[in-house]
This record gives sequence, structure tokens and C-alpha cells, in this order.
Amino acid sequence: GSWYEIDLGAVRNNYRELRWRLPRNVKIYACLKRNGYGCGAAAVAATLAAEGVDGFAVASLLDAISIRRTGIALPVLLYPGASTGAGPVVEALDLTISISSIDELHQWTSVLTKFRAFIKVDLGFCRAGATPSEAGPLLTAAHSSPNVLVEGIYAHMSELPSSRPLDVVDQFARMQTILSNAESGGIRPAIAMMSSTEGVLRHPQMDLDAVDPGALFVGLPETEEPARELTLRPALKSICTTLVTVKRLDASLGPVPDIPGFKPGMTIGVIGMGWGDGLPRTVPSGSEAIIHGRRARLLAPAHLEHLRIDLTDVPEARFGDRVILLGRQGDQHISHEELAAHWGTDLVGLYASLRDHIPRIYI
Ligand SMILES: *Cc1c(COP(=O)(O)O)cnc(C)c1O
Repeated sequence: GSWYEIDLGAVRNNYRELRWRLPRNVKIYACLKRNGYGCGAAAVAATLAAEGVDGFAVASLLDAISIRRTGIALPVLLYPGASTGAGPVVEALDLTISISSIDELHQWTSVLTKFRAFIKVDLGFCRAGATPSEAGPLLTAAHSSPNVLVEGIYAHMSELPSSRPLDVVDQFARMQTILSNAESGGIRPAIAMMSSTEGVLRHPQMDLDAVDPGALFVGLPETEEPARELTLRPALKSICTTLVTVKRLDASLGPVPDIPGFKPGMTIGVIGMGWGDGLPRTVPSGSEAIIHGRRARLLAPAHLEHLRIDLTDVPEARFGDRVILLGRQGDQHISHEELAAHWGTDLVGLYASLRDHIPRIYI
């Protein structure tokens, strides 16, 4: 079989690294979208709850359900994604909805009698959220609806390909205007939030009442020149699989396939992971795995569930032996950066390509 080794000690460390640097009154809503960045929303949530996290944020109802199944009663904010068909689940699990427009407000109030909400505002990222000019009227409408408990207002500070450094300042200024208008109208929600990983690392002045980083907890430091220097550890420790079979390409198979890396008489293995398990559809040349403490070449192409490996230099390899795609064995180590480069992605992309059908072993 195949499995991921997930280090919950790293998650704990990453949380503590952030917590002690934040002012005490700043709450942490841990963003655990995409099943906790592939590391398992339930296990990561339980770890963070034990550390005293204030709440969670997710994009999918499934992630909210897995957090609630662990028995956690902390707030769970749903980022935009759920529609009113999810009303019964939102009610049963006491989830907090994001609302970006008057229409969304009306639709939710038509299906739920009482619910918690965060107003989402768009500060220039042009994704979900009320525009700065819509934010005031939306807050007023939500505030005056007897069905809605307006607990927060938030934005996602993120960058467009064309972003300039000054955009961050502009976006923060827009948020401050929205908040001060709400304040003077007596309808400022208790929690204002706009910092994800990038924000908490680079812009401490934007902490507001709460922050909602996600990647940070699984140890993804993507920020250059952080204002807060955290020592983060990766939660994904290794990606392991086994040899499904070992064979010598003898003459009875006919001519060896015309594929780079194949030679008559060579010994190949087949590993129990393919592109259906998160590997790239096209395995680039130079990709390697570790077996018996040595590096061996992966032989493209990948298949849905299998991939060949060149065992020429590992004659002792046998059926069932462990193969490391990420992590350490003996003196050899395949780093997150190396694997991400071979998979044609970055570190967040690597975590996002972890698949939910592959078991996670928590260490
Ligand atoms: C993904 C996301 C976050 C967390 O982002 P990270 O970069 O993983 O910290 C925060 N807020 C919103 C709305 C998001 O979509």
C-alpha cells in the first residue's frame, strides 16, 4: 500500500510559533481547507483545539463535517462555497456562514431561522465578498435581520498577478474605512479579520481582532522577508509506497519498449502509486525515489495506479519493499522542494495534491 506520514508535532510547533508572537487578544481561526491542506482536517483540528485555537475556517462542507465529528465545538466558519441546500447541515453542525451580498443574505434567511454569519468583503482581490461600497449596506441589512448573528467581518488579502506592494496598503485602508463606518453606525461586528499566512508573517499591523492563516500550520513558509520570523516545520513528513512487483525484462517479453531508460535484461519494479494518487500525469526525467537507502530512477510514463522504477542498482529489492517518494531513508533524503519541482508545482501545490483515499499515518 501507500501512505502519508503526517507529523502532528510539527502542527503543534507551528501553532505555538505563531501564538506567542501574536498579541494575546488576537484570535486564531485556523484555515483547514482542502482537508487541512491534505494532512487531514480532523486530526489537524484536534491538535490545534488542544493547543487552544479559537476557531476554524474551511471551504468545503465535508471538512466542516470532519471537524465536528471529532467533537470540537469551536466556531467553524464556512468560506464562500456552500449554498442554501446545505441549510440543514449548517444548522445541525452550528456552522458560521459567509455572506457577500444582499441576495445571499435573503436566500439564507429564507431557509434558516437563526444562524451565525461573517460578512465577507472584497478589498480588491475581485473574488467573493461585498465591494467596499456594498459592505456598509450589507452590514446594516444583516444587522437588522432577526435571523442573523453577525459575528464577524473578514477579507482575504491576496495578490493578483499584477499586484504592486502598495496594493496591500490600499486594501488595508479600505478595510479600516469599512470598519470605522460600521463603528460609527454602531454595527461593527466583534471580529474583524484579514490576515492569512502571508499577512501574519509580513503585516503585523493588519492583525485586527483575528487572523485566519492555513498553510502556516502545515509548515509552508512561502514568504520572503517576513516581519515575523517563525521557525516552521513541515507537517508532511513522508510519502511512502511499496513495490507491487519486481521483474527482469527477459527476452520472452519481446523487444524492450521504446521508452527512455529501458534496457534489455534490466530489472524494474512497479510502485503502487500513479497519477490517480496525486503524482503528476507526466513524470519528468530525473525523478527519483529512495529504496534500500539508495536513489533509483522513476521510469515515465506514470499510470493511474502504478509507476515503474529502475532497480538496476538495487539488486536486493523484493516485492513489498518500501519506496520513499518524499522523506528520508538511510543517508538519502528527498525534500519537499525537490518533489514539488518534479511534480511541476510549488509547496502548497504539493500539499494540495495529497489524495484523500491514501491513508495518513500520524506520528
Ligand atoms: C485559503 C484562505 C486563507 C488561508 O490562506 P493561507 O495562505 O493558506 O494562509 C485565508 N482566508 C481565505 C478566505 C482563504 O481562502
